[in-house]
Amino acid sequence: MIWKVKVPFKVACFTWLLAKQATLTQDNLMKRGRQFCFRCSFCECEIETINHLFLHCRETVKLWQIFINLRGISWTMPRSIKEALACWNRDGNQSGHRERWKIVPACIWWTIWMERSQRCFENKSCSLQKLKMNCLVLFFFLV
Ligand SMILES: [Zn+2]
Repeated sequence: MIWKVKVPFKVACFTWLLAKQATLTQDNLMKRGRQFCFRCSFCECEIETINHLFLHCRETVKLWQIFINLRGISWTMPRSIKEALACWNRDGNQSGHRERWKIVPACIWWTIWMERSQRCFENKSCSLQKLKMNCLVLFFFLV
């Protein structure tokens, strides 16, 4: 499912790492004895886990909401990345532009990851509006 989506190879690799729960979020860094940020660098309320950062963080949910609204679907956020991919692609079968919608999770996750890295390692952040714009630009111009 991940490799059939038309996104750049590095984005597909990143999505695969997410699905394998192998991305270096705080929970995984702690397992390896390393820690850079204490909390989610977006909401600063929760411990940064893969599922929190890419699915349930209130900032990430706002990116998801853009595409949920564009598709006009009702959506309950799944618990895991794998479930999110399966549900998003399953629901995509019922609407037009099926292939186009499949890149949405990768666009959201890549946008979040780039912003998270900037916040953690460069101490820079962009506004929610800019984050939304980055995600939309990726969606419209990625392929
Ligand atoms: Zn958060």
